[in-house]
Amino acid sequence: MTSETYCYFGGQFVPLAEAKISVMTHAFNYGTGCFEGIRGYWNAEEDELYVFHMRAHYERLLRSCRTLMIDLKMTADDLCNLTLELLRRNETRYDVYIRPVAYKGNLELGPRLNMPNSDALTIYTRPLGDYLDTEKGLAAQVSSWHRVEDNAAPARAKITGTYINSALARTEAELNGYDEAIVLSSDGHVAEGSAENLFIVDNGVLVTPAPADNILVGITRATVIALAHDLGISVVERQIDRSELYGVSELFLCGTGAQISPVTSVDRRLIGDGMVGEITRKLQKEFFAAVRGKSPAHKEWCSPVFAGARAEAIAD
Ligand code: PMP
Repeated sequence: MTSETYCYFGGQFVPLAEAKISVMTHAFNYGTGCFEGIRGYWNAEEDELYVFHMRAHYERLLRSCRTLMIDLKMTADDLCNLTLELLRRNETRYDVYIRPVAYKGNLELGPRLNMPNSDALTIYTRPLGDYLDTEKGLAAQVSSWHRVEDNAAPARAKITGTYINSALARTEAELNGYDEAIVLSSDGHVAEGSAENLFIVDNGVLVTPAPADNILVGITRATVIALAHDLGISVVERQIDRSELYGVSELFLCGTGAQISPVTSVDRRLIGDGMVGEITRKLQKEFFAAVRGKSPAHKEWCSPVFAGARAEAIAD
């Protein structure tokens, strides 16, 4: 990132350093915003940046906006086009993280959602490599913090304020000497990681908690399910007990940031033989090819940033 880096703010592209909000901003005070984390992967051979599942992320953002009564007056396609334009302006020729935030930008007191003329949008980008280790395997701890509940702070929506739940769990795990937290729903079933969905391998079958277990319904989770299907691996969505985790042969977390991150111990009990499992490795291989636009069967998951602009330039 340089002083030349732009972001989208206040309805236009402005230098990142100029994109400032007031300390009185509603979303800053009450967590009344929702957001996405989207990755773009640089493909050097093709001289192209591919944004992974961009439309699905913006469709989820618009669903989160409905929960928060935020009306951006934009479609998912409008948001995709803004993002492509921003990435081109920033000459983004590296692996990148894209962070759109839709939020209540008014300055009034009081936690509520139905305020007139309050809805705002910003999109910024930043370079990002691995967020979690994807090679050696993580040590996870079942958190003493429970996952937020649908009827309290809906987990299905990606709401800024709700991330205090993730922050509490992740911090506890790190302070206790672990890499990551596994969070249970308040009825005691496994929900997910602090910012990742969770899969186990049970007798060769992939198992993951269903949306009603208070997960954020991840786009990487859907990608893993599709890749498993390609590989002929069955996938089941069902409740998982805490103690079941100790006996599984493989376990991994997945998310836009985390990608596919193997977990090799839970609460100091080794998963399988303590090495990254075979099914996890196979899925990683397919995943890391797909995200960079190197999987012909899944090229439609990747939006090219520069190809469109090059085609327009030739047509001119
Ligand atoms: N759960 C939570 C709480 C998250 O923050 C994320 C990251 N967005 C995920 C799951 C994974 O979602 P996705 O694959 O869409 O990034």
